[in-house]
Formats: sequence, C-alpha cells, structure tokens
Amino acid sequence: MKALVFDGTALAERLVPRPRPRRGEALIKVRCAGICSTDIEILRGYMSFRGIPGHEFVGTVVSSSPRRLAGSRVVGEINLSCGSCPLCRAGLGTHCTTRSVLGIQGRNGAFAEYLALPVKNLHIVPPSLSDEEAAFTELVAAACEIPAQVDFRRSHSVYVLGDGRLAAMVAQVVRLKTKKVAVLGIDRDKLERIAAVGIETRDLKRRHGKLDRRDFVIDCTGSPEGLPLAAELVRPRGTIILKSTYQGTLEWNPAPIAVNEITVMGSRCGPFDTALDLLERRKIEVLPFLSAVYPLGSWEAAFRRARAADAFKVLIRIA
Ligand SMILES: [Zn+2]
Ligand SMILES: [Zn+2]
Repeated sequence: MKALVFDGTALAERLVPRPRPRRGEALIKVRCAGICSTDIEILRGYMSFRGIPGHEFVGTVVSSSPRRLAGSRVVGEINLSCGSCPLCRAGLGTHCTTRSVLGIQGRNGAFAEYLALPVKNLHIVPPSLSDEEAAFTELVAAACEIPAQVDFRRSHSVYVLGDGRLAAMVAQVVRLKTKKVAVLGIDRDKLERIAAVGIETRDLKRRHGKLDRRDFVIDCTGSPEGLPLAAELVRPRGTIILKSTYQGTLEWNPAPIAVNEITVMGSRCGPFDTALDLLERRKIEVLPFLSAVYPLGSWEAAFRRARAADAFKVLIRIA
C-alpha cells in the first residue's frame, strides 16, 4: 500500500506492506485523514516517532471480528490501551502506561491506504455527516474533553488562547456550557472566520485597554507563549487548561501560578461519542474551518498548506 513514512529526518511516500490486524482489530481502508499540529510537531521530533504518522481519519472497515462492522464508515479513538493495568481498570485507558497511540506513539497511523485499530476503538459515522465533517471528530472530541473535566457554570467566563482549528472547536464546545467565551488570537482572517460562527474574538495585536481576567483560560496556542499569557489573564484562584503540546521547551518563572493560587490542568483526548453527537446535531460548525483537501499524491503541498499561518484544517483524500 501507499503510505507516508517518517524516518526521523523526513517524510516520504513509500510502498509498504498493509497492516495485519491482530486479534480484536479491524482493517480499515482510509478515506481521508486530517493533518494535525501534532503531526507537524512529530516531523520536528515530537515523541521521537518513526513510521506512518496521522491519527485523524475516516475510513471504511474492510474486515473485522466481529464481522458486523465490515463495510461501515468509521472514525477511531487513537489510544490503544492494554485493558488490564490499574489505570485501564479504573477507566483511564487513555493513560494506560503501556499504551500505543495511532500515528503518534508505537503504532502506524492514518497517512496510508490502510490502517488497523481495535474494534473497541471504532465509532460508526452517522450517515448525515460527510467524510470531511467526520474527519473533525478527533479534534472535536479533544475539545469535548474540557467539559468532561471541568464543571462549567453558565456564569463562568472563559478565554481561549490561539486562533487555530483546535481553538475554534474548543470555543464552540465551551460556549454550549457557558456564555462568556472569547477567543484571543493574532491572525485577523482566522479570527474573522471564528467570529463568523458567533464566537467573540479579540485581536491580541490590537490590544487597546486591559483585558479582564477570567475564571478559565484555555491554552490552544500550540506554542510556548501560551502558558505565560494564560497566567496573566486568569483570575486569582482561576484555572488554566493546557491543550498545547509542542516540541520545544518553555523558560518561564511560574511564580504567578503560586502567588495567584492558579490551578493548571492538562487536557488531551476526549470522548468520540459526545463529539459525533454534537456534529450530528449540528451544534458545532466544522466546515468553515476546512482550508483544503489534497489527494495523497500531493501530500507535500498538503503539509505546506497545513503549516501556513492562515490555514485551519487540511485534509488528505486517500480513497
Ligand atoms: Zn490531532
Ligand atoms: Zn493499561
């Protein structure tokens, strides 16, 4: 099969053997796969990953046991957990210490014609959703993890830092829980696109006057600048939710965290069923945040586009 393979230095299109599903796994023909910031970080060395990257996908099940799934259009949760360690038994499979993660850690991913995933990771895509919409499921699920961790009240005030695709999803998901949500970013066009789905936005480059401090500040910048800015904007005893993962380090004096008694909470993968439900009920708009779709053969152009400052989600159409 055709696949994009990262050897630690560069990404290249190669012919590789199809994955052989293990017991309990399904073989999936990938229809399309999304380029995530994590993929771009992986190409810069994040997680020291080698192999086929890509973890956001929609595909068709070719074979599985049980066989009832064959022919179904699915999306898949990306963490492969052991199912038997104390964390797994406590329902924290995404934190399984021996887990592998599709296209991120110890497991070939979705930038390929086929992938294999455990049947228990798969979710059938409602027929009303297009492939392009369904390709956002993993990203929307990551946004849904926040209300799964935090009990928002209507009266809570929230900033979302960053103007990328994750920020756009997080702001829409959080807005379903609390009214006062604003996205703070630097790219005027992207902020306009976010504002077009009814989210309040502020341009950090044109910061006239002081920004009020908020109960929650969610860092979706994907950069080391996010956390220090969040510490400036959260109220004393407030909560910072850290969504950013990046290759690199942050040199910063964390005294404001102690002085203002701030809670810092990490947040990663989230519930696919909630995400699919929000997508199906049209509670979240994703297509305004689809920048481009490229065929697999044009993967270099796709990655270039995904890296561009003005890009939201870029998809690779594989079948
Ligand atoms: Zn991702
Ligand atoms: Zn486990």
